[in-house]
Amino acid sequence: MVIKNLFKVLKGIWIFLLLVIFTVLILSYSQTVIYDFPPPKPFAGSHWYSPYEDLPADRFRINLHGHSRAWGGLTNGADTPEALQRAYADSGYTVAGLSNYHKISPPTPGLDLVDIPLYEHGYNVFKSHRLAIDAHDVSWFDYPLFQWTSHRQHLIDDVKKTASLVCVNHPKVRNGHPKSDLRLLTGYDLMEVRTAYGWFAEWWDTALSAGRPVFLLVNDDTHLVARQSFWAWTVVYGKSRDKAGILDGLSSGAAIGVSCEKWARCDVYLDSLTVKGDRLQAFFSDTLEHIQVTGQDGRQLTESFNTDRIAYTLQDNDPYARVSGSRAGQVIWLNPVIRYNGQDLKEQYNMSAQRNNLLTFLVRIAVVVLSLALFWWILILLGVKRARIFKKKE
Ligand SMILES: [Zn+2]
Repeated sequence: MVIKNLFKVLKGIWIFLLLVIFTVLILSYSQTVIYDFPPPKPFAGSHWYSPYEDLPADRFRINLHGHSRAWGGLTNGADTPEALQRAYADSGYTVAGLSNYHKISPPTPGLDLVDIPLYEHGYNVFKSHRLAIDAHDVSWFDYPLFQWTSHRQHLIDDVKKTASLVCVNHPKVRNGHPKSDLRLLTGYDLMEVRTAYGWFAEWWDTALSAGRPVFLLVNDDTHLVARQSFWAWTVVYGKSRDKAGILDGLSSGAAIGVSCEKWARCDVYLDSLTVKGDRLQAFFSDTLEHIQVTGQDGRQLTESFNTDRIAYTLQDNDPYARVSGSRAGQVIWLNPVIRYNGQDLKEQYNMSAQRNNLLTFLVRIAVVVLSLALFWWILILLGVKRARIFKKKE
């Protein structure tokens, strides 16, 4: 009797899960858009785009990825929004972004912070997440189960409709944005290079090597201030201490990323980075143990030790070059210098993925057919079909 009841319960759970999958398939995946992607193509041009020319004197430390208590405690975040923002303001930050899932939080009154409305997008099982920066509305659409490259492109495009900048978050986590995708995806602006959940410079190099002009963002991705805060941040060299100044710094690449162990001082900054002719030179405010220049496909181009500077002669076959450095407990990432035509970087590499109408239609038909087949199977499991058939025979 007990076993029979157990089977009944298990069957109930199984049917419920199938019903959920059916609903998800119909509601989300029937809206699938299939894209033709511009092929990966290394940056090219006789000029160098250098994001650190004429650096403004003011630098602003920002964190755009922090989760507070939200949605009645359903999501992972322990502090109140006010406590989180106050802690960052007290630690000298200019922006303390509240990136709760699908929720744009209002700024905490009375704090000397620049407010940038944002939210983290994505409730899918593989943690394919995006940060919607300077968002004026929330995009609720997601593909909650599996995602193809086209699904991820669709989501980027959808989020971008209501946000000034889109950042691909923690790409390695649960393979949320595989390297094979980052060679194709377009239309986003920034990528997280370091958070509490990993190091992602390799994924960044994949996008850069494919000719996608993506700049860095480094964030705590804190879910609890006491444990995960103040050790990974972005410094923006901004023309003004306001939203426009910060956004301009991020999108033009006038920013550096810093990762810092709790015990370290982490007070080394970039003084200057210039490209004169083909000569790249970077100067830091203090000695670093190791500095390196990284290029196409993540190859190391040169390195220096125990110095505050590095120089490298850019070669004809270098589409981009980026500098990073480290010393006890601190790592610094700089944005790349990029080959271009000398006019407008974003314009030149503005290659949007094109919707493939035929494939989109065929996939949508397949989704509907598959969903109906699943629904049919659920009916059989429920015993509805069997009862009907027997009735006919009688
Ligand atoms: Zn996330």
